[in-house]
Amino acid sequence: MCEPEGVRLLLYTHPACWEHDTGGWHPERAARLDAAIAGVHRSALQVVEREAPEAPIEALCLVHLPSHVARIRDFCLAGGGSLDPDTVASPGSWDAALRAAGAGLAATEALEAGEGDAAFLAVRPPGHHATPSRPMGFCLFNNIGVTAASLAQRGQKVAIVDWDVHHGNASQDMFYLRRDVLYISTHEFPFYPGTGWIDEAGKGEGEGFNINIPLPAGTAGDVYEEAWVRIVLPVLQEMQPDWILVSAGFDGHADDPLANVNLREPDYGRMACRLSRLASGRLVFFLEGGYELEAISASVAATLDGVGGEFPDLTGAESPPRARHMVQVALSQAAQHWDIG
Ligand SMILES: [Zn+2]
Repeated sequence: MCEPEGVRLLLYTHPACWEHDTGGWHPERAARLDAAIAGVHRSALQVVEREAPEAPIEALCLVHLPSHVARIRDFCLAGGGSLDPDTVASPGSWDAALRAAGAGLAATEALEAGEGDAAFLAVRPPGHHATPSRPMGFCLFNNIGVTAASLAQRGQKVAIVDWDVHHGNASQDMFYLRRDVLYISTHEFPFYPGTGWIDEAGKGEGEGFNINIPLPAGTAGDVYEEAWVRIVLPVLQEMQPDWILVSAGFDGHADDPLANVNLREPDYGRMACRLSRLASGRLVFFLEGGYELEAISASVAATLDGVGGEFPDLTGAESPPRARHMVQVALSQAAQHWDIG
């Protein structure tokens, strides 16, 4: 057990997030929110429901160009359509995107005020591919980036832990030159969006504060365990961030139709339990990807039960040999900047 019982979870969402209409075929659909929220209520945590407020434009502009914000607004309000081959928007997407970006700002304020022990943001559109200047990969604004930048502006040290199966290219780019926001990601590689190789390690002041652990298709919980024990956890322990923000995608689940990693619910529980031990009261989960509804629901429940102290056993699933090798290579890179290995 990692944490005492009775953990209070702040659940942020807003009806506007259902009105981001991606059409009848798109995997990033409103039913994902229903699945995530069902998962929240399947967990044993005490849940306090909150409405996500709109992010102020100034907060969006901490990580996005004003021209990007204006383009998204104008495009949505003019009726929407396709922003790129993957990314679509509808008239309702503007309010949804503002709420999705505002949820993290409200959640961190509420946690600072002692109103809960952790927060889960059931919001869409997701965020970690949205760059300063363009929407990308189902994302309009970088929700986790907005919150991280806002906390950093107030002198807080932030770690972004990205366990979505895709690399968060935009989160990496936004903080690449900075040491007050660490970005650390496990992701399938090679895979969309193509970034996330080991030598992308930050630059200047930020050197060493960007850590990529790219993993081959077929990687399962055994090698995630190794990556966490050997890299993720020791780095977080050394950094001692004030906040841990999680890009919590559930598309690394074995049943997810868009990717090829083989995580199961207990693997999410183990990761979440360990984070809760490191950042009790300063832990926020941002819903990113995840496209199989039951996998989302069960994985969200396992994540939150992990926050509540449950530390499930490994499933026994085995990764291809190359996966373990990639952890070793990522460790060698990270050990140039951190006292690990
Ligand atoms: Zn993803």
